[in-house]
Amino acid sequence: MSSLSFALRTHPGLKRPKNEDAVGHLLTPWGGVFIVADGMGGHRTGEVASRLAVETILEHLKEAEPSPKALLEAFERANARIYQEALRPENRGMGTTATCLLLDLPYALIAHVGDSRAYLLRGEELALLTQDHSWVAERVRQGLLTAEEARVHRWRNVITNALGSFPQARVDLLGLKLQPGDTLLLCTDGLSGVLEDRTLKEALRNFPPEEATRRLVELANEWGGPDNVSVAVVRPPQELPQGTRPYALPLEAAGGAPVRLHLGEEPEELPTQVLELKERPRVGWRDVLLILLWVVVVAYILLGYLRP
Ligand code: CA
Repeated sequence: MSSLSFALRTHPGLKRPKNEDAVGHLLTPWGGVFIVADGMGGHRTGEVASRLAVETILEHLKEAEPSPKALLEAFERANARIYQEALRPENRGMGTTATCLLLDLPYALIAHVGDSRAYLLRGEELALLTQDHSWVAERVRQGLLTAEEARVHRWRNVITNALGSFPQARVDLLGLKLQPGDTLLLCTDGLSGVLEDRTLKEALRNFPPEEATRRLVELANEWGGPDNVSVAVVRPPQELPQGTRPYALPLEAAGGAPVRLHLGEEPEELPTQVLELKERPRVGWRDVLLILLWVVVVAYILLGYLRP
């Protein structure tokens, strides 16, 4: 029986003076937490932002029971912390992407902000699970740019969402039930922007995580290493525990495809507020009947007093 295997790796690449990416992980009784982050901002603020995101998210999830809500709260904490830091003049423009995999076996929950990515290799198929929050990706989704045009567009590095950029986090959350043999990949755009999907797939399919991460970083550097590159490869155990989870999010569509919950579409709404609203009891018929009954009783009593 194989157990959970994984590897994480980050490298500055060949063109950048420093590494503003950060990676981190945490093993838990129910699986683990794996995260990649790609920081941005001037004078050393990018590396501070990505490191803060990784630390804050891991710190929160270390204490929490695994759930979509805990994952969102971890992102909100990281957002608040980086947003506070970014208010200082010397940290202007500070922010970071973050793509985090929370393994709650046999489930995988993914929270995501920015243009780092999560992929799933299942059988022969490599699927991109996340949507890039970037200027070009938004135009591709609207049909205004083709994927090929986006790949070489001069604004391909402009991201439209980052931790620390808005007072409230705008987080994509998705979840799926894992199958034996699945492999998950998290990476920053220093990898996905340089290597083609079939290269990613070959590395994941043919090598164990440690070897796959090493090869992927090497390949990105062979292709010029234009950016910091970070990669996490996670292979859950072949024999997955069964069982249900206390959280009741629609994790999968009928076909088994991951369901993406966009919790950040409206920046004025906090993700936790969305969750709380769902749990808030509604005024039902029973409440209406009780109120009517109360009115009738009060009226009856009042009439008794007023009657001569
Ligand atoms: Ca990058």
